[in-house]
Amino acid sequence: MQNFANSLISWFEGQKRDLPWRKKRSSYHVWISEIILQQTKVAQGNSYFKRFIELFPDIKTLAKAQEREVLKAWEGLGYYSRARNLHASAKQIMDKYDGIFPTSYKDIISLKGVGPYTAGAILSFSQNLPYPAIDGNTIRVISRIFEIDTPSHIKETTKQMECIIKELYKYGSPREVNEAIIELGALICSPKNPQCKLCPISDTCIAYNKNIIDKLPVVKKKTPPKTRELNFLIIDGPDNTTYIEERSGKDIWKGLYTPMMIEENNMDRLTKQAGLIIEGVKKIHKFDYIEHKLTHQTLKITIWRGSTEIKSSHLIPKEEIKEFPTAKPFIELFKKSMN
Ligand code: SF4
Repeated sequence: MQNFANSLISWFEGQKRDLPWRKKRSSYHVWISEIILQQTKVAQGNSYFKRFIELFPDIKTLAKAQEREVLKAWEGLGYYSRARNLHASAKQIMDKYDGIFPTSYKDIISLKGVGPYTAGAILSFSQNLPYPAIDGNTIRVISRIFEIDTPSHIKETTKQMECIIKELYKYGSPREVNEAIIELGALICSPKNPQCKLCPISDTCIAYNKNIIDKLPVVKKKTPPKTRELNFLIIDGPDNTTYIEERSGKDIWKGLYTPMMIEENNMDRLTKQAGLIIEGVKKIHKFDYIEHKLTHQTLKITIWRGSTEIKSSHLIPKEEIKEFPTAKPFIELFKKSMN
């Protein structure tokens, strides 16, 4: 165990990436970066993190922001409930902990959107406390090295991994151990074709030495995503105006702004439905088609376009659209429909 820990940590010291959230180890920075990284790869997460911290440098600024501003900073990342949870938790920290990030596991895990991994990451990365942070990288690395072949989602497996990681804390700090395992999973021990020849711990890796890497970890089969067909209507109004609406309810994209969502794809019924909100919509035609994959859904989106010459208080200048947060499929679409 000691040799393994030493090799892993000295590899990490030499190879770790220079990431912006490793510069200032505050709980706030670690929290924001970890929630962003649940959505995206590190390269893209970097720019989102920098922008988010520029806009909301501390808990107080985040708590005071409008939800629309927070969603705008999150635009394009997906899983917008995570941005809403960050916002709600910032308010919770202001109210309950006087704006000071909580320091106990119990209080941190009570924040909205914080699970065992994020709580462990915050406590170990920022405060160097002995809490394992078990994400997909950790599961992969530990399962392969120690030949853990129980399903990765069951409690017993998590417990077993926690025991192994805590044992490693005897030979390195919790921050080093947790980060080194995750870094190895991200850079070397990839899900497919891991670079075992470059791996600092291949000598002690059971899966490598038994040639069973592709059998580990044992993961639960994913249910295939459902397909949904959606229709949206872009309306060109007089004086370069258009219509957007806020998505509400429990469906996807709550709090984001999109063109008019239309239940119908029959032209007459579509015109009639649009007319209930905006008067005089005509010349409706198919404008675009987008396929967009979410974790559990594949969206087949037909975009329609029509126009009206009647002024309405529901129409806004097109140049103002960029101030509203929208979902990924509509970022380019709005640009395309500017003229
Ligand atoms: S030897 Fe290969 S499978 Fe084992 S930890 Fe290293 S990269 Fe992963």
